[in-house]
Amino acid sequence: MRCPGCHTILTRIEQENIKMQTCSNCYGTVIQRPALLHLLHTDPYAATRESGGTPSSLADLAAIVGESDTKQIMPCPQCSHSMQKDRVHPMIPVQLDICGPCMLYYLDVGELPLVRQLYWELQHSTDERVVAIRDKYAGAMMGMERQREEAGTPSFGGVGVPMGTLGGLSMEFLRTVSLAELLGMIN
Ligand SMILES: [Zn+2]
Ligand SMILES: [Zn+2]
Repeated sequence: MRCPGCHTILTRIEQENIKMQTCSNCYGTVIQRPALLHLLHTDPYAATRESGGTPSSLADLAAIVGESDTKQIMPCPQCSHSMQKDRVHPMIPVQLDICGPCMLYYLDVGELPLVRQLYWELQHSTDERVVAIRDKYAGAMMGMERQREEAGTPSFGGVGVPMGTLGGLSMEFLRTVSLAELLGMIN
């Protein structure tokens, strides 16, 4: 499989028992959606702590991503169809490249630690604005759940979190919160 960003042949690696592929040239990452969701629910600081290192700050990661983020549409490394820009989670305002049919994400350098740390901080923040976002999201999810039960439709691919827009979820209130605003609330 080749990197959709720079066409270098990807390297298979395993990080925290999760299989993914990385690009040795641009440091992009290709990862399956269930694996990425699993990582979101795992402490993003554990590996750095164990190795005695210091994790990058959210501000530093956001700056890296601001520079690395690919704006053009890229082909899926697996099926070659155009990938879409979407969030991995409605609460995380970072646009990733995803192939819906393959359930495959491409993340530019810095995006993987950024979305992981953001998700972790969002879940643990006690800032009242963040708590309000979490409450609204939970309310919207419950509404979705009810609708789904009434319509008898299956859940989001069995992975528990709807895709940003691909899930067809109306979460406009989340879309008005920018990454900069969110970082201001967390720090
Ligand atoms: Zn690359
Ligand atoms: Zn694909």
